[in-house]
Amino acid sequence: MSKKSPEYLKDDIAIEIFMKAVEQTPIAISITDKQANILYINAAFTDVTGYLEAEILGENESKLSDKCTPTEIYQNLWQTILSKQIWCGHLVNRSKQGERYLAELTIAPMLDKQGKITHFIGMHRDVTSTHQSEQKLSNQKKLIESVINASPVAMVVFDSAYQIILDNQMYHTLISEFSHDEPALFFVHALQQEFGDLWANSNLHLRGFRNHEIRVEGLGQRGTRWFSCSGNWFSEDTTCADSFFFKQSKNYLLLSICDVTFQRQQQEKLQLQTLQNMMAEEEHIRSIRETLLGAMHQMRLPLNQVNAAVQIMAQRNDSQNLHLKTLLTQVQHMGEEALNTLQRCVPEIPESAVMPVNLNQLLHQVIRLFSTKFLANGIVVDWLPNSILPSILGSDNKLRMLFKQLIDNAVEAMNRASSKERVIKIGTSVDNDWVYVTIADTGSGIPIHQRSKVFEPFFTTQAAGGFQSGMGLVMAREIVNQHDGMIEIDANYTNGCCFNLRFPVCPKKTSTG
Ligand code: FAD
Repeated sequence: MSKKSPEYLKDDIAIEIFMKAVEQTPIAISITDKQANILYINAAFTDVTGYLEAEILGENESKLSDKCTPTEIYQNLWQTILSKQIWCGHLVNRSKQGERYLAELTIAPMLDKQGKITHFIGMHRDVTSTHQSEQKLSNQKKLIESVINASPVAMVVFDSAYQIILDNQMYHTLISEFSHDEPALFFVHALQQEFGDLWANSNLHLRGFRNHEIRVEGLGQRGTRWFSCSGNWFSEDTTCADSFFFKQSKNYLLLSICDVTFQRQQQEKLQLQTLQNMMAEEEHIRSIRETLLGAMHQMRLPLNQVNAAVQIMAQRNDSQNLHLKTLLTQVQHMGEEALNTLQRCVPEIPESAVMPVNLNQLLHQVIRLFSTKFLANGIVVDWLPNSILPSILGSDNKLRMLFKQLIDNAVEAMNRASSKERVIKIGTSVDNDWVYVTIADTGSGIPIHQRSKVFEPFFTTQAAGGFQSGMGLVMAREIVNQHDGMIEIDANYTNGCCFNLRFPVCPKKTSTG
């Protein structure tokens, strides 16, 4: 084009067009001599600076200087242009009206045929408002960042592939406390488990979720921790050039993780006190039940014999012992009546509502309830909970009674065997929609031939005179059955006795239900 242009345009026409272009271009243009004395300005220069041609021609460009631009900038400007390079930068200028403005300036040296500088051409525009908007944006960003960083809540932003793209100071504290590499992913995984199908549901994405509590066991040296999680999904328009006309958006999840351990610990303390009272009451009811059921069992044996004798006499049609038969029949009726009366006196185990129960929480409670007893008996508890445990559906009252019974048995067995190593291992795990609980002691153990009988009523491994009624494991199995679970004695455990229990995981919430 440049080679061909002289053929298309005559020199004077070309110069005229170039002059008009420079004149009308919306950027302030000035041409100076080598000392920056102004020789030419275009109309936009007057618009930006306020100076008319007559007022500025012959003046030095320094007339525009506000004098608050650091000297080093001017030194750099001059060094650059004198070495025949183009200089681009920002200067603070002052208009004819005395107003400061930020000039985005480009200065290019103009060279003659020998390559010597003859003039300089300066092009600048007022970028004060752009700078103000950028500064406002940057200030807002800093403000938001400092608010987010000062927040006592850990915050993480995930992209749609669960890559962390933003986090705050509190999240870094959480990383250092967590043994897991990326705690946020750990929480997302736990939440996905809890929400089930609902996690991918657009309704949840619209509404988000608030204060969903996750209990984490054995975190560093700090034991059980509670975190309240909230989630918000949002989308952002992409900034790539091809989405200028046709908007494209990306989805993100803001996850807030608030440590509520202190509040929960306080709550647990209060709860523990209430539970201690409640359990003392339950214990009382249970002992009355067992005493009455035991008495009924003892009465049933001679009564069965009386029944048998009456039947034999009836079959023989024995007329000689008519009086005896009448007497035995009376004893039979009185016995049955006494049994019915006792049956009516057997107190019911109080029912509690069926709800999602976290067995880690429940077992931890029971362990704490037993703490004095463990201490008094020199027993060490090895608490090995699964770090995250899904809830099971059940009655916390009954489950508490179940675990209390198994631990009571374990303490009793270790005392009986005078075990040197006095350890109760209590662990939880999860696998294939089942929550597993293991309670193992270092006591006397249960001989293999008695293992199938221990769940039968009034069976006890203790020598005569022991205080146990033999109803504890019957009740334990009944409670496990009521929860659709399983209880069995671990055949491979040789260090004492080990009970393995399992319960179905609470059905996950579904998008339809
Ligand atoms: P000055 O004493 O003029 O200069 C400050 C420093 O610049 C000195 O310490 C010196 O090292 C260096 N310097 C100045 N003149 C020369 C020179 N001729 N040779 C070598 N070094 C030199 N300034 C603005 O503030 N706003 C503008 O919009 C602007 N536009 C310009 C456009 C063009 C085309 C050119 C060539 C310069 C422009 N300048 C502009 C720079 C201006 O000429 C002044 O250098 C600057 O304003 C500082 O002025 P001063 O009086 O504070 O200091």
